[in-house]
Amino acid sequence: MPKIKNNIDRVSKRIDQSATECGRAPSDILLLAVSKTRSTDEIRRAMDAGLTHFAENYLQEALDKISQLEDEDLHWHFIGPLQSNKTRSVAEHFNWVHSVDRLKIAQRLNDQRPEELGPLNICLQVNIDHEPSKSGLPADAVLTVALEVVKLPNLRLRGLMAIPQAEPSFEQQKIAFQKLAELREHINQSLDNSEKLDTLSMGMSNDLEAAVSQGSTIVRVGTDIFGKRE
Ligand SMILES: *Cc1c(COP(=O)(O)O)cnc(C)c1O
Repeated sequence: MPKIKNNIDRVSKRIDQSATECGRAPSDILLLAVSKTRSTDEIRRAMDAGLTHFAENYLQEALDKISQLEDEDLHWHFIGPLQSNKTRSVAEHFNWVHSVDRLKIAQRLNDQRPEELGPLNICLQVNIDHEPSKSGLPADAVLTVALEVVKLPNLRLRGLMAIPQAEPSFEQQKIAFQKLAELREHINQSLDNSEKLDTLSMGMSNDLEAAVSQGSTIVRVGTDIFGKRE
């Protein structure tokens, strides 16, 4: 199954090219493989191609894979909707959570994070298009939550995440990503040097070029690595 490796090579080239075009270092952008619905075999193919960061949306499915791959040196990112009753398992088994959209969830993750694992990396999810049906904090509420989350000792607030509406053109895709980048700048003005946000988790299979052009540091790619999901 050389397909996954070929796909990863192709996605990596797209990232490198987009970064180079706007004067960024390709190494500043992490390719996060979204492995929801994929088997551990498929994850191993991606590992063989050099990837070590994997993202999951569904907790039980994720916990099964994490335990099957526990001997590997992998970094697990939780990117799905997060309810209060799931925070303990997430705090115990993941390195990153991108989908924090309420202070209460952050507080629970902080209280439940095992100290020996070190701080859990957090992104606040922003509803950047103001879509009523979508999860994520409204843009104008993010600063207030961020200023509380940075006080939590077992969390490290790294940045912002968004899943913008699908747009057909590069120019249209750029708009939401630019808004998220500006929001990070705005928040950073209120943070101490040691607390400044260094992460923008934005860009997926169809819009990663536009995201990289606006400063993305983590692109979350599923389909273009593993193929279409069932
Ligand atoms: C599924 C998912 C992705 C990956 O999307 P693709 O279009 O398959 O690349 C990225 N981010 C989130 C939050 C997802 O749920």
